[in-house]
Amino acid sequence: MNTQLLPSPGTGAQMRPAQGPAPVPEAGRFAGQHRRRLLRADVLTVTAWSSLAASVALWLADGGLTAVSSPAGMATALGIAAGLAGMDLVLLMLLLAARIPFIDGAVGHDRALEFHRKLGKPSLYLLLAHGLLIAVGYGMAEGLDPVSEAVALWVLVPDMWLAFISLALFIAVVVTSLVAVRRRFPYEFWYVVHLLTYAAVLTSLPHQFSVGGLFAVGTWQRWYWLAICIATGAALLYCRIIQPVRATFRHQLTVERVTSVAPGVVNIEMSGLQLNSLSGNGGRFFIWRFLAPGLWWHPHPFSLSAEPVRTGPDGHGRLRITVRDLGRGSAQLLRLRRGTKVAVEGPYGLFSSAARSKDHVVMIGAGIGITPLRALLETTPFTPGQATVLLRGHSNQELYLGEEILELCRQRGATLFHLTGGRDPGSPDSWLPAAEHRAGYAMADYVPDIAHADVYVCGPSRWAGNVLDAARAAGVHEDQLHHERFDW
Ligand SMILES: Cc1cc2nc3c(=O)[nH]c(=O)nc-3n(C[C@H](O)[C@H](O)[C@H](O)COP(=O)(O)OP(=O)(O)OC[C@H]3O[C@@H](n4cnc5c(N)ncnc54)[C@H](O)[C@@H]3O)c2cc1C
Repeated sequence: MNTQLLPSPGTGAQMRPAQGPAPVPEAGRFAGQHRRRLLRADVLTVTAWSSLAASVALWLADGGLTAVSSPAGMATALGIAAGLAGMDLVLLMLLLAARIPFIDGAVGHDRALEFHRKLGKPSLYLLLAHGLLIAVGYGMAEGLDPVSEAVALWVLVPDMWLAFISLALFIAVVVTSLVAVRRRFPYEFWYVVHLLTYAAVLTSLPHQFSVGGLFAVGTWQRWYWLAICIATGAALLYCRIIQPVRATFRHQLTVERVTSVAPGVVNIEMSGLQLNSLSGNGGRFFIWRFLAPGLWWHPHPFSLSAEPVRTGPDGHGRLRITVRDLGRGSAQLLRLRRGTKVAVEGPYGLFSSAARSKDHVVMIGAGIGITPLRALLETTPFTPGQATVLLRGHSNQELYLGEEILELCRQRGATLFHLTGGRDPGSPDSWLPAAEHRAGYAMADYVPDIAHADVYVCGPSRWAGNVLDAARAAGVHEDQLHHERFDW
C-alpha cells in the first residue's frame, strides 16, 4: 500500500484560497445541514406528486367523470386525463432541467437530470395515449375510424394541427434521448434536437386553451394552468438565459494563462471580477464557453480545481480549471490564447461542502476526476485526522495536481494514499491497482471509519461505480455518497 508521506511538496500549491485557511467545524455541524437538505428534497418530491394529482383533479372538479357514460365518453375522458398528466410531467421535466438553484442545492444537478430523464418515457406515453384515445373517443361518437377522425381534427379544429406537430416533436426528442440513440450522435446534435422540446411545448399550448371547456375563459382551471406554464417558462428564461448572461458580465472572465500539468492536461487560469462571490464553490462545476473563433458555441462543463483566489479589491482575482483532452473540443482548449474572453454559467452541482452530512470526509479520485477533489480539499471543513484522500492513477504522472494535494494534506492534517499501477484484468469490479487487489486490500483498510464519513468520488464512470460499490459494502449509507459524473 503506497501511503502519504511522500518526501517533498515540490513546487508547492500554486493557487491559494481566497478566504484563508479552511474553517474548523464544530462537531455535528453537518447533521443540521443534511436534515435541511433532505427536507428540501422531500418538499420537492411532494410538490411534484401534488402537481400531477392536481392536473387530474382540475378535470374531476370540472365534472369530468360525468361524461363517462358510454365507451366513447370513457375513451375521451381517459384521453383528456392522460393529456393533462402528460403535460404536467413535461413541465416538471423542464423545471428539472432549468438548473434552478433550489433544486440543484437539494438533490444536485446530476440527480435532477436523472429524474428528468426518467420522466421522458412516461410523459411521451401519456401524450401518445392522449392523442390516440381522443381520436378513438371522438371517432366513436361521430361514427368515424380513429384515422379519419384524426384527419378531421387536423383539418377542421383550430390549433389542432399544431398539436399534431407538437406530438411529432416530442417523439423526436424522447427517441434521440434514449441512451443507445444518443451515443451515436455528437453532443451538439443531441442538444439542438433537445431544444425542440421548447417548440414542442409551445405548439402544444394553443389547443389546450382553445379546444374543450376545461380551460375556457373565466374558469379557475384556466388560471391555474396558465400560472404553471408561465412559471415554468419564467424559471427557464431566468436560470438558463438571464442568469448566465448576468454572470458573464459580472465576472468578466479572461484567460490569463494555460500551463501544462501532464501530457494532454492543462491548468486554465482566468482572471475576473467579483470572484469573492464564488468562494466556497470548490469542486462544483460551471459551463464554460471560450469566446474564440470555432470555440464559442461549445458549452463545456468543467469543475473548479482550486478555490477562486482574490488578488485585489472588489473581488478582483483568479480562478482555475484543469482540463484533459478527452475529445475534439477539449483538445482545442489546450491551445487557448491569453486574453480570450470566457462566458460562464453556474456554479452547479452538489460536489461541495453543501453535501456534507458527517464530520469525517473521504475524497477518492482517479485521473482528471482528481482535480475537483483538490478544490474541495482546500476548503471543506475538517479537523486534522478527519479527512482521507485516495488518488488513483496508472502512474504518478496521472495523479494530476498530486503535489498540490500533498501540500494541502500536510497543511490540513489529512491522510493521503496514492494508489498507482495497472488494474487487474481478471477483476473488472476492482477499483484498486492489481497489486493491492491481489494482496486483499479493501476500502476499510484505507479508511477504517468510512461508514461514518461523507465519501466524494470522481473519476471514470466504471471505476467510480466500483468505488461506490466498495464504499456501500463498507457500510456507507447512500446519503453519504457524493459522486460527480463527467459524462453526459
Ligand atoms: C459535471 C462535469 C464536470 C466536469 N469537469 C471536468 C473537469 O474538471 N476537467 C475535465 O477535463 N473534464 C471535465 N468534465 C468532462 C468534460 O466536460 C468533457 O470531457 C468535455 O466537455 C469533452 O468535450 P469534447 O468537446 O472534448 O468532447 P465531445 O465528447 O466531442 O463533446 C462535444 C461537446 O459536448 C459537450 N459536452 C460533453 N459533455 C457534456 C456535458 N455533460 N454537458 C454539457 N456539455 C457537454 C462538450 O463540452 C462539447 O461542446 C466534466 C464533465 C461534467 C459533466
